[in-house]
Amino acid sequence: MAVPFVQDWDLIQTLGEGAYGEVRLLVNRQTGEAVAVKVIDTSQGKECSENVKKEICINKVLSHPNVVRFFGHRREGPTVYLFLEYCSGGELFDRIEPDLGMPEREAHRFFQQLIAAVEYLHSVGITHRDIKPENILLDDKDNLKLSDFGLATMFRHRGRERRLNRLCGTLPYVAPELLSKSEFSAQPADVWACGIVLTAMLAGELPWDQPSESCQEYSDWLQKKTYLSPWKKIKHTPSVGKGSVIKIV
Ligand code: ATP
Repeated sequence: MAVPFVQDWDLIQTLGEGAYGEVRLLVNRQTGEAVAVKVIDTSQGKECSENVKKEICINKVLSHPNVVRFFGHRREGPTVYLFLEYCSGGELFDRIEPDLGMPEREAHRFFQQLIAAVEYLHSVGITHRDIKPENILLDDKDNLKLSDFGLATMFRHRGRERRLNRLCGTLPYVAPELLSKSEFSAQPADVWACGIVLTAMLAGELPWDQPSESCQEYSDWLQKKTYLSPWKKIKHTPSVGKGSVIKIV
């Protein structure tokens, strides 16, 4: 059998740089098919190679239209290649206009797809732990694809849930209990990060640097000062026309 993604695949360009290597675009010379390959150099230490093993293991389990598809992996000495669905629309991050965000209809659609991805992950016992617009990619039809399972972990196995204790992720997106409690539930922390992504999509700014009371913006929010930014930008007034019906779903 031919080794996958070796023969007849041309390296077209580098798509992005990550902490452990880079992501490249490969295109098949015969079929024109495109795949992204994440190249990871594990020579940086045992921790890195353990993390890659876990990323592969988790990717193998996943199959959902809003999660980047995993085609397989290959090892060459210390280098590991992960073959992934190519998302030609780039990062959600680049769709967010600073200070403005994006039209509410678009944000609504992206948010529904993000929640579908997270609901799926949680249904199979996996938590992403680093949901942010940089880890959310878009395909050629602007469908959302949750990406980068480098920090993901299993929080439920054979119906038994475990609480987490490791502080990881990206500070503006982490839930407050990660900073204040020694143990916390996995699912609400991912949902919190989705809420911060929604805020960024609607207001074009992050609400705080971190959710701790020493942070002025966070303590203002706790005191319900929604007349401040970003909240004042996203107050929604439903337009009720003659004969229109407000649907509560
Ligand atoms: P980080 O250090 O941010 O955690 P990482 O090493 O885990 O990064 P990724 O986040 O997976 O690497 O990828 C780095 C960048 O490469 C992404 O932000 C994105 O721009 C690009 N990229 C990754 N996967 C794909 C893909 N499947 N299709 C298109 N571009 C991609």
